[in-house]
Amino acid sequence: MRLDLSGKVAVITGASRGIGRQTALTLAGAGATVVLTSRGDAAEAVAAEVTAAGGQALALAADVSDAEAVKRVIDTTNERFGRLDILVNNAGITRDQLLLRMKRDDWDAVVATNLTGTFLCTQAVLKTMLKQRSGRIISISSVVGQSGNPGQTNYAATKAGIIGFSKALAREVASRSITVNVVAPGLIDTDMTRDISSDAQKNWTSAIPLGRLGTPEDVAAAVCFLASDAAGYITGQVLAVNGGMYA
Ligand code: NDP
Repeated sequence: MRLDLSGKVAVITGASRGIGRQTALTLAGAGATVVLTSRGDAAEAVAAEVTAAGGQALALAADVSDAEAVKRVIDTTNERFGRLDILVNNAGITRDQLLLRMKRDDWDAVVATNLTGTFLCTQAVLKTMLKQRSGRIISISSVVGQSGNPGQTNYAATKAGIIGFSKALAREVASRSITVNVVAPGLIDTDMTRDISSDAQKNWTSAIPLGRLGTPEDVAAAVCFLASDAAGYITGQVLAVNGGMYA
């Protein structure tokens, strides 16, 4: 089965590197026009990669926790491409600390990007999708939102929050043929996990039945499936891409 996203327009947040970058490349490879966002101008290089490969891409700077910036991205997408079919809420950060030592700033920053960012971007695309009577909203949670992890109460709360948010919204918009799903990656080899010591990585890897870290490609393939027509009857679900580390 080849997944065909020709004619579709997708917005991917946090697309300058890691999972977001690969998701943009994979969706573009399947034929989608991709709008890539990140805080600075780093997504421009990824947009150039898409264009060089014959795809259509636009990079826009926006912090997902800034409602005005998010609105500008969605307005620009609608103006430039006349539609918006797929939103991938991928932008995310960690500020790990044991709860007793966690600063209020560490809590607020993670909630603002991971959870409020998901709320703002989703709310901003909804009008267009409701009008179109179709749409795909896919948010990146984490195995940590399902299983918990010491030192990540802030991160786990946001990633579990994304699951509840998506299940509730799936019920709100199903009658308009908009699906809302979650991808929950395990340990994926990106900048976010590169700081983990090699001992800790070995420990983690030994807990992964498939015996290796995941790749951005592993996650992007799941997103591409959920964005495609093949997943039209799937909504309110969490697709774990974790090598079996949590089932
Ligand atoms: P990276 O740190 O490699 O990339 C994060 C991306 O998010 C960057 O493009 C960054 O762009 C962007 N970003 C961060 N903050 C903001 C913001 N406020 N507004 C807009 N963009 C922002 O992370 P990964 O690729 O590893 O992670 C992607 C998603 O997957 C995250 O939600 C993460 O929680 C989740 N995840 C990752 C796992 C892993 O093991 N790597 C496991 C499970 C889930 P810039 O800095 O240029 O703004």
